[in-house]
Amino acid sequence: MAGGTVTRFAPSPTGPLHLGHAFAALTAARLAGPGQFLLRIEDIDQSRCRPEYEAMIAEDLHWLGLDWPQPVMRQSERLPAYQAALDQLAASGLTYPCQCRRADIRAALSAPQEGAPVIGPDGPVYPGTCRHRHMAEASPNDTIRLNSAAALAHLGLDEVGFLDENVAPGVAHRLAAADLIAGIGDVVLARRSMGTSYHLSVVVDDAAQGITLVTRGKDLLDSTWIHVLLQKLLQLETPRYHHHRLIRDAHGKRLAKRDDARALRLYRAEGATPEDIRHMLGL
Ligand code: GLU
Repeated sequence: MAGGTVTRFAPSPTGPLHLGHAFAALTAARLAGPGQFLLRIEDIDQSRCRPEYEAMIAEDLHWLGLDWPQPVMRQSERLPAYQAALDQLAASGLTYPCQCRRADIRAALSAPQEGAPVIGPDGPVYPGTCRHRHMAEASPNDTIRLNSAAALAHLGLDEVGFLDENVAPGVAHRLAAADLIAGIGDVVLARRSMGTSYHLSVVVDDAAQGITLVTRGKDLLDSTWIHVLLQKLLQLETPRYHHHRLIRDAHGKRLAKRDDARALRLYRAEGATPEDIRHMLGL
């Protein structure tokens, strides 16, 4: 692994892989070059993930001609690692337990003095209702949030930045601390039923797997600010990024898992070859 590029494809096993996933996986494998391409199963949301989809993912990827080292990292087996990261952030006093349900947040944001809610990468920016609470008061039903203003102050940062080799290569992407606080806010680090969140797990796992180049769709570009902030707080190296184009349907809408009509296995059943898939994707 020394010196080479390490990339990963990190699907959630919540449905069959479609053309958008094929593009993401082939891009990650191509950009690994002679380095390493890894697979990671993002199955923290056990209510939506199914083992049969995980098996289909491996089968579809092998059919596309991809291979990866074993054992595959599976997020559902990594809860102690996420808990350790959460404990580290909590020990610095940067987290708080939040009792708000979605409806509470909507109600707080619709108060007349609030103005139009700002929409961040995870939806409406949290209004800070529970920010005064301490971790000692946390109950198992609370979500845990990062106090983003305290986190930036703790690091003494007035901006965060990262490099993307696809979106404006050679130019550092920068976001001022004030804009992160206002536009992203206090993100959830641990959801009540999961003990972690997408943001926390992805940061912990990219570091654990030694990923040097994170490749993923442009729809996740705004989440990268959160990941860079978490990397700094957890003293992890920030990898390089490559946010790639999204595969859209005939109406220009991004493909989602429910677009089963675009499932790779259906193209396959109709006799398509992996070469046909690459051709369809413009690869
Ligand atoms: N699991 C995420 C997804 O399926 C990808 C996460 C990432 O690449 O950071 O969209």
